[in-house]
Amino acid sequence: MKQTFPIIGMHCAGCANNLTKALSKVTGVVSAQVTYATDKATIEYDEGKIDWEEIKKAVASVGNYQIALPKQSHQPSHQKHNDQKHDGPQNKHQGHNAPKHGDHQDHAAALSQQKKSLLKTKTIVSGLLTLILLLGNWLKLFPHEISFIFTSIIMFYAGQEFFINAWAGLKKLTANMDTLIAIGTGTAYLYSTVVTFLPQLLVGPQPVYFETAAAIITLILLGRYLESVAKGRASEAIKKLLNLQAKKAILLKNGQEIEVDISQVKVGDQLLVKPGAKVPVDAIIIKGQSYIDESLVTGESKPVKKSLNDKVIGSTINKQGLLIVKAASVGEDTLLAHIVKLVEEAQSSQAPIQKLADKVSSIFVPSVILIAILAFLVWYFVLGLAFTPALVIAITILIVSCPCALGLATPISIMVGTGRGAEKGILIKNAAKLQIAGQIDAIVFDKTGTLTQGSFAVTDIVPADITPKWQPNEILKLAASLEQGSDHPIAEAVVNKAKSLKIKLASPQNFQNLEGLGVKGQVANHQLLLGTFKLMEQEKVMRCATLDGLVKRLADQAKTIAYLSVDKQTVGAIALEDEPKPIAKAVIDSLKKKDLSVWMITGDNQPTGEAIGKRLGIKNIIANVLPQDKVKQVKKLQQKYPVVAMVGDGVNDAPALAQANVGITMATGTDIAIEAGDITLLQGNLELIDKAITLSQKTMTNIKQNLFWAFGYNALLIPVAAGALTSINITISPIFASAAMAFSSLSVILNALRLKRVKL
Ligand code: ADP
Ligand code: MG
Repeated sequence: MKQTFPIIGMHCAGCANNLTKALSKVTGVVSAQVTYATDKATIEYDEGKIDWEEIKKAVASVGNYQIALPKQSHQPSHQKHNDQKHDGPQNKHQGHNAPKHGDHQDHAAALSQQKKSLLKTKTIVSGLLTLILLLGNWLKLFPHEISFIFTSIIMFYAGQEFFINAWAGLKKLTANMDTLIAIGTGTAYLYSTVVTFLPQLLVGPQPVYFETAAAIITLILLGRYLESVAKGRASEAIKKLLNLQAKKAILLKNGQEIEVDISQVKVGDQLLVKPGAKVPVDAIIIKGQSYIDESLVTGESKPVKKSLNDKVIGSTINKQGLLIVKAASVGEDTLLAHIVKLVEEAQSSQAPIQKLADKVSSIFVPSVILIAILAFLVWYFVLGLAFTPALVIAITILIVSCPCALGLATPISIMVGTGRGAEKGILIKNAAKLQIAGQIDAIVFDKTGTLTQGSFAVTDIVPADITPKWQPNEILKLAASLEQGSDHPIAEAVVNKAKSLKIKLASPQNFQNLEGLGVKGQVANHQLLLGTFKLMEQEKVMRCATLDGLVKRLADQAKTIAYLSVDKQTVGAIALEDEPKPIAKAVIDSLKKKDLSVWMITGDNQPTGEAIGKRLGIKNIIANVLPQDKVKQVKKLQQKYPVVAMVGDGVNDAPALAQANVGITMATGTDIAIEAGDITLLQGNLELIDKAITLSQKTMTNIKQNLFWAFGYNALLIPVAAGALTSINITISPIFASAAMAFSSLSVILNALRLKRVKL
């Protein structure tokens, strides 16, 4: 069981690292990942062993943090089991404590809002006091004792969290950004206190640094406040999706309309959807027709026409007609809930590019403390600087270094990037896939349903003319009778054609579906086969040269051919057309412009494949491939190209999609397993492939910029703070250091926010 929970109170990637470590150690936790950028913990756990109280304790043990658990999870475990027994079948998803996105999410939002306003108050108080201190110090308005009082308020009220977190870290022998600030400001404060009250301990008159400590805390609080505002903007995607959720439904019961809460709707319920209202859950239309605005869920901008038996997606908007629908999936099973879960998991996942930054981050804080101590020792003992300025240098180093920007650089861009994708109907499974999607060398498309519409129409019926008996209608009759057993789109087309000609069908016996080849069975005491050339060969059917000639011409027109054999003799063929999607050519053109090698794979025959390829501008055709052999073909391509993407419908292509470096599935409607692909395109819209690649590339560029600035910032300013440029009179004051530090993580977030506006 894997779930994502909000964490409240983190201010740094270091916090997230420590929380990850603490959570991973709790019994029952298989793996844990806490991400600062999203303020979330993704925990994979063993339902039988997990104790939520332990989880809460672990979170509190590393600092002033809270985890927002769903209500059920607070229950002691014996009660939990009781509940499970009473759960009805439709409640099974709540039985194992699945979070219900309403409550605990709201609770978490309220808590973090509280934290935010407290932070704001503290920043203002600290800011005002600091101003008075700076003025007082400058104009010599009051003695050190007054400065001491003001600064104490700032340190122990406004800045208390730095010390609480540093202390919690110290107890666990870990250090974080708060440790640096606590040591830095604490040193300045203590030193000034000694100067004020016990000057006899020091030699000669010494300056005090109260206003420095105060200003550092103010600036860092200000930075954190701005950061929390900017972060809120970066994480809007999930919030938007959650707000989208329909809240009420109108239940039809015994001819009555009853308004109920969405949580009370059960599968099979009949619901009324008025014009202008939201479709409450994923459902099937049983009466009426309308246009549905799906833009907020799937990104499809045009309203979609829906009528009887069509599927409608929960939380989309009914634009026109009055609809009666039957609930098909509710609660955690709805498309929207799946999307939210997927985006949440993706945002909390780690991209490979983060590894280096993580490595540096993990040793960053101790290294900085070491550098600060060394710098003090060198300046004081070796270079003969006085005690106080040497101390100031050490403090400046502690304050200027910014592990947070390093830790934020990757995840914040991943969060904004995946969120931006979700908005457009591009669902990306995890950060690693987002990273690699921009590096695709070759892309293989499944033909039917991916490049083509996937809906066939019979165009020609060609008799082999061996005996006059086998006329087109007779061929169609046998073929359609047999196809009644299949649900392949070809079968549908053949049956429809027969029905439209009012041909009476017989029911097939011993029916067999031969996947990727065709169908087999008995009709009217004849042994029938309908399908590909390969099938006919396999079954050693007697061929007919004239028919082959006729059929080749049709195949060259991009038509799919289904041969019919009766008692092992070819009697004719049916040609079917499946039009390419109108957008396909343009998409392939733009992929080729991106220097991708484009391939098509199909179970159809070579001439048909090539003819369609020609129309679309695809030269590389792999035809006659059985569904189970598609994996092998992908592997083969992977020997030639480092990164291969496969695009399919996710139904019978699942193994090949999994084999590909990037599996892209086209989802239509709600009947999709969005877990099947690495990238899911929600509207079955090919154009999104190109956009997904662009999004990946832009996100990676953004991450690299962030990493460059974050590394560069520290690499440059830490030496300067240590006094490396004193010889040319460039030094940094502790106050400047805190301003620079606060700005550096803010700038990383602001840069990531630019991704929100990236053109797709
Ligand atoms: P694709 O690989 O293009 O997605 P499939 O694997 O579904 O196509 O099928 C491969 C080929 O097998 C089809 O092009 C068709 O010629 C044949 N075939 C499959 N199922 C049937 C069927 N029910 N009736 C006739 N032909 C079929
Ligand atoms: Mg297919």
